[in-house]
Amino acid sequence: MSKHCLMVGAGLSGAVIGRMLAEAGHRITVVDARAHVGGNCHTERDAKSGVMVHVYGPHIFHTDDAEVWDYVNRFAAFRPYRNRVKTTSQGAVYSLPVNLHTINQFFGQTLRPDEARVFLEGKADTSIADPQTFEEQALRFVGPELYEAFFKGYTIKQWGCQPSELPASILKRLPVRFNYDDNYFFHKFQGMPEEGYTAMIAKILDHANIEVKLDTPVSRDVAQDYDHVFYSGPIDGWFGYSLGRLGYRTLDFERFDYQGDYQGCAVMNYGDVEVPYTRITEHKHFAPWESHEGSVLYKEVSRACGPDDIPYYPIRQVAEKSMLADYVALAGQETNVTFVGRLGTYRYLDMDVTIREALDAGRAFLKAAQEGSAMPAFTVAPL
Ligand SMILES: Cc1cc2nc3c(=O)[nH]c(=O)nc-3n(C[C@H](O)[C@H](O)[C@H](O)COP(=O)(O)OP(=O)(O)OC[C@H]3O[C@@H](n4cnc5c(N)ncnc54)[C@H](O)[C@@H]3O)c2cc1C
Repeated sequence: MSKHCLMVGAGLSGAVIGRMLAEAGHRITVVDARAHVGGNCHTERDAKSGVMVHVYGPHIFHTDDAEVWDYVNRFAAFRPYRNRVKTTSQGAVYSLPVNLHTINQFFGQTLRPDEARVFLEGKADTSIADPQTFEEQALRFVGPELYEAFFKGYTIKQWGCQPSELPASILKRLPVRFNYDDNYFFHKFQGMPEEGYTAMIAKILDHANIEVKLDTPVSRDVAQDYDHVFYSGPIDGWFGYSLGRLGYRTLDFERFDYQGDYQGCAVMNYGDVEVPYTRITEHKHFAPWESHEGSVLYKEVSRACGPDDIPYYPIRQVAEKSMLADYVALAGQETNVTFVGRLGTYRYLDMDVTIREALDAGRAFLKAAQEGSAMPAFTVAPL
């Protein structure tokens, strides 16, 4: 029997789940508080320069998941794109992630891979047997010089605290390469949608059984009007922040324009703590197949998220996880709501993981509907 479902959020989570249910014959309403679809992946052409701007920060699509890759290619033409990031640190420009070029340039050496491994082992602080903090982890594996230049200042600016206060898990595998590969991601599939993410998500939402309402913030009481709700907004927001606010970092993007090519690459990090921003992105380099004289740039500054700011990165330290556990318990008492996506589950999720989880959530709903069983509050445990 056809059901009427509400998707709160027209980002990837709401769009992908909504599309699957619509194709199975259900009636779908998608609402978003914002004036556009696409959620945080939203892209928009700048009227003056024609540059495709990644409005909520740069988004590069990368995945090992063949089903997800096939899925996005159904709705957008993808162009090849390699994310090659540079960093300005202590008065010089280096290549990231730290690779053989970075090491040789930084230490004024001409080391081959095996020599570089031995060289870095000589720098590492082997007295740290079981690294507990981000700082110990970095010192244990790359030593003080590379830590200071490439990890310390950036991390302080990004997280607003000392690396010695952050868990080692943030730096689980130190991204150091003993070759000249400067492709930022390891994944098999990588690319950019030719016409941006918003066009792709609009196409996912383009189905006869889907109705989209923009500029429509909703709250918990709407749930009674629908057979089921998939909620991709902040989990604490659904409950009116009754147990407090989960901590996030937000980002300020200071836009500036330029005639020509400002920095010669899409992303330039700034490792020094004295520079207030973490990176500058030059959006036209995300679409190297296009040609624009004008340029749009974002200086990115990270800070604590206030009640009126956009939540970007969940903090997920001990205090936040404890509050999250209480919200998860409340969510478990809802009868027709499933919490999905980066905000609904309070996790950092790349786009491919978001799509994977949305496909799985959609399938779980179709199975439950067929069997007449209840749909759980979560299809992925947030804790
Ligand atoms: C700075 C930054 C850079 C990133 N870069 C990459 C990258 O390079 N590659 C990558 O794979 N991933 C990247 N990501 C991750 C990517 O943004 C997410 O995977 C994706 O946005 C998750 O989609 P979502 O639908 O779960 O959430 P969102 O995109 O946040 O969508 C949720 C939507 O719900 C709406 N909403 C919330 N509450 C309500 C309400 N009460 N009523 C109505 N509407 C509501 C919001 O307005 C929003 O549009 C990045 C994330 C950040 C923060």
